[in-house]
Amino acid sequence: SRRVGIVGCGQLAQMMAQEARPLGIEFSFLAEGGENTACVQGLGTIVDAGNGEEIEALYKAMGSPEVITAEREGVDVGLLRALEKFCPVYPRPDAFEKTQHRVREKTAITDAGLPVAPFRPANNYSEICTAVKALGYPAFIKSCENGYDGKNQWRVNSDEDLEGIADQVPEQEYVVEKGINFSREVSLIGARTADGKVVTYPLAENDHYNGTLLVSTAPAPHVDEKLQTTAQEYLSTLMDAWDYVGVLAMECFVTDDGLLINELAPRVHNSGHWTLAGAKTSQFANHVRAILGMPLGETACDRVAVMINMLGVDKKPALPNEGVWSYGKELRPGRKMGHVILLDDTQDKLAARIDSMLEELYGSSKRPA
Ligand code: ATP
Ligand code: MG
Ligand code: MG
Repeated sequence: SRRVGIVGCGQLAQMMAQEARPLGIEFSFLAEGGENTACVQGLGTIVDAGNGEEIEALYKAMGSPEVITAEREGVDVGLLRALEKFCPVYPRPDAFEKTQHRVREKTAITDAGLPVAPFRPANNYSEICTAVKALGYPAFIKSCENGYDGKNQWRVNSDEDLEGIADQVPEQEYVVEKGINFSREVSLIGARTADGKVVTYPLAENDHYNGTLLVSTAPAPHVDEKLQTTAQEYLSTLMDAWDYVGVLAMECFVTDDGLLINELAPRVHNSGHWTLAGAKTSQFANHVRAILGMPLGETACDRVAVMINMLGVDKKPALPNEGVWSYGKELRPGRKMGHVILLDDTQDKLAARIDSMLEELYGSSKRPA
């Protein structure tokens, strides 16, 4: 049987294996630096990279997979490049290198002729101030590396705000972005094979709470066909330009002047978890199909799907739902513990169900603690 190696042992690796094992594919997992492996227990061989072994020994311990992938944006690119000597690594290490650094990422997007918010690089507080003055308020200051779930970033609306962050920004690389007045945030998930076949899912609309995704709805309500087509064109353009293989996720802002790309994730994405119950083929199955060069599965959905994250709670809701995924992680405040999916014929029918589910998960505030 065919074997896929995954660098990383979190819930994304878990769901890739759960979704692709029924296709007869076996998995092994490489734990980086003593990471917790609870999510992938029982799903395949687990190998610890942390004991300084030769790469070849690691590769063999993983059962000599025919292709290797990764589940985290921040994966060690040097490790991926070393593994590439033994089998293909998809997405390619170059894709991780670009998306691990916000200025490199935005530059790669604009090089492909696609729109992003106006931005400037900055390396210290004084350069941040110069950039903010040039771009105007509101502005976002983000560290180029190690930012996720809205961490390591600041929104400044005024000179006062800007002064307020002076002692919070150590010298390192930042990107300063113009604040975009968007009406919605949407994301597009697509998969591409090495021979250039591409499938995309319907756009999802994303609602965040305190910088973390809380609810995703697909197909995105309030989105017309033109926006879907434009997003598909953007994603295909990027995937072709990078000779990309696997699933790529693209987060966008919808503005009065059209679509802007916010950021990319070279992996399966939280805003695509709805595909587990809402699409013919999940993003996880299509990722594995893409990296193995198998025919890609259908991405259409017949109904409206909603995914609600369980942040800092791990429950089995009593209200009707189309599925609860609990990742089996140790409970910590705010941590992504699992998600629930709801399906219905219309967005209107779903609205009340989303509200009730949020109340069941989070209590009367309907929001994570
Ligand atoms: P993720 O968890 O999605 O990886 P992240 O920490 O990488 O998030 P971003 O996606 O860049 O951060 O920003 C987090 C959120 O902040 C966005 O979803 C959006 O709501 C808001 N935001 C970021 N940049 C801008 C901008 N230029 N204009 C307006 N809002 C922004
Ligand atoms: Mg991000
Ligand atoms: Mg984001």
